[in-house]
Amino acid sequence: MMINRRDFIRNLLLMGGSLLLFPISSYAKAEKEEGWRPGYQKLEDGGKLAQRIEQAYTIFEHCQLCPRKCGVNRRKGEKGFCRAPLKPVVFSAHPHFGEERSIVGNNGSGTIFFSNCNLRCVFCQNWPIAHEGRGKEIQDEDLADMMIQLQKIGCHNINLVTPTHVMPNILNATRIAFYKGLRIPLFYNTSGYERLEILKILDGVLDIYKPDMKYMDADKAAKYSAGASDYPEVAKRAIIEMNRQVGELKIDHRGIALRGLIIRHLVMPNRVAGTEKFVRWVAENLPKSTYVNIMAQYRVEYKAFDYPEISRGITAQEFLEAIDWAEKYGLTNLDPQSVATRHIYKLRKGG
Ligand code: SF4
Repeated sequence: MMINRRDFIRNLLLMGGSLLLFPISSYAKAEKEEGWRPGYQKLEDGGKLAQRIEQAYTIFEHCQLCPRKCGVNRRKGEKGFCRAPLKPVVFSAHPHFGEERSIVGNNGSGTIFFSNCNLRCVFCQNWPIAHEGRGKEIQDEDLADMMIQLQKIGCHNINLVTPTHVMPNILNATRIAFYKGLRIPLFYNTSGYERLEILKILDGVLDIYKPDMKYMDADKAAKYSAGASDYPEVAKRAIIEMNRQVGELKIDHRGIALRGLIIRHLVMPNRVAGTEKFVRWVAENLPKSTYVNIMAQYRVEYKAFDYPEISRGITAQEFLEAIDWAEKYGLTNLDPQSVATRHIYKLRKGG
């Protein structure tokens, strides 16, 4: 389709407008940050953080940190499904700008990528890290120093990517870092495959949860995520608990997230992710103002080439119907970039 200059400018304004017309105050309630303290500080001040660390470390002896419940003794060097050792393996730690605007701000999100994974999806976008475990094994004290360094260079939060299997190390490192001056929000960036019992140990420690909701159907979860047929039900329960703990996304005067829940949902080809069911579930089980990021960036990675139904990118129509469903079910707090992407797809379709 040929686009003339006037249409181009009109669509550019529409796209820009979607960002401008979604001022941060409309998708997250501002919170007075006077007196704001991160959750882990409040917990430590209340004398509870050390006890949580002890409780978490005990789980390593019969590992049930995630729904795989392998029961291996990681303290003795045994490895379960995730293949993670006792100490954290870290692939990288750096400011990251590929998250939501309220997470990255101007200085980036202080992102720590943990190696290994308890879900191991066939379309994993980080497969050298998650499946092959590339990275360096470090001590909890080193992890604490990474957090401090990320804070020192101005990052707005500590973004823990694939944290589930190293949760005890994270708690321990956070406490060490707290005594070295850590004061920025702690942010759990997870697949959503989390046990309720484990989330209860995290209650009050974390400031921001960002779970995925990958699929809504057990057969899809089993097929693409190493037999995890319980994923949809587990993730739904986990997200409701996360919402109970941190609630709706709150930001400071700069528009930077301080606390709250962000749900991510990656649209997949051939409706594999069950997007309509997902948005309906959010509308029926959480506040309609829950921050939801519907993402268009599915790409064929790792073993996805072996599955014809997911061996292509998504179409414009597949993304447009996803946003239409979100609106149909009344979700009011979609990520502005999702909305801007809709305009781009509409432009491509000539709509
Ligand atoms: S964290 Fe790893 S070892 Fe522990 S239960 Fe989950 S997959 Fe198994």
